[in-house]
Amino acid sequence: MSDPHPRVREVTSLSNPTVKALRALHDRKGRRESGLFLAEGARNAIEALDAGRAPEILVYHREGRGRDVVVRLRAATLASGGECLEVDEDVLAKIARKDNPQSVVAAYRWTRRPLSEIDPGRARVFVALDRVRDPGNLGTIVRTADAVGAGGVILVGETCDPASVEAVRASMGSIFAVPVFEGTLSDFQALASRWPGAIVGTALHATDHYRRTNAPSPILLVMGNEQAGISPEIASTCTHLVRIPMKGRADSLNLAIATAVALYGLAEPDDAAP
Ligand code: SAM
Repeated sequence: MSDPHPRVREVTSLSNPTVKALRALHDRKGRRESGLFLAEGARNAIEALDAGRAPEILVYHREGRGRDVVVRLRAATLASGGECLEVDEDVLAKIARKDNPQSVVAAYRWTRRPLSEIDPGRARVFVALDRVRDPGNLGTIVRTADAVGAGGVILVGETCDPASVEAVRASMGSIFAVPVFEGTLSDFQALASRWPGAIVGTALHATDHYRRTNAPSPILLVMGNEQAGISPEIASTCTHLVRIPMKGRADSLNLAIATAVALYGLAEPDDAAP
């Protein structure tokens, strides 16, 4: 039997307009036009809820409507004015654009944050990414930034979309916990000019070891583009330039791996802290 709430609808038609609108969120254009993005899976939705974010649209397999997690998510969605769709496997697969989809998919409003909103005093470390291209790298970095307690991830210049399904998936729910700021090169230069601590750039040609910088907090760790590294304009704002030593044949580390190594080297969280 269907839930009687007016904002809970059972949908079985693949051509339903809301199903089409949700499907469009796989494309950057669709996300820009609606301001929404998709997160897959009950786990992500619960992480979001714990971070104070309820879905604008919650979709779940109708056979799972009695599951505790679905009951909790549906109550939160309705309480915040959102709508719920009870669907079958085919509709879920159509929205998720894949076979064997997760039984919960949710759409959230993306909050675009300018660099002027950054408060450097909020955390010991922040991460800035110069023209990051790969959404998997970006999501993984958001997850690592969350793990070290970073104050935010700052995207500079033309970047991949932090709200893409791939980036959100790779963040494993951390996209709801870590603020992502987006700005231009000149926005970054303005931030750098008011930064009270160290701006630590990472570069293959740097001579300083990443664990021997004595960089004062708050640290703004700057990582370069996957192909081109850090631009000369951004490098010139750095108070420190560091390298991660490498032996063997690899000419560089993957961006997300290098970010994790540098973040832990510069700002490992205190194990004793709660
Ligand atoms: N060809 C690029 C270059 O010349 O910088 C390689 C870019 S690398 C794949 C992407 C980013 O990861 C770099 O810009 C840098 O921020 C960081 N990175 C990777 N390996 C590093 C290393 N061994 N030392 C310092 N930074 C590194």
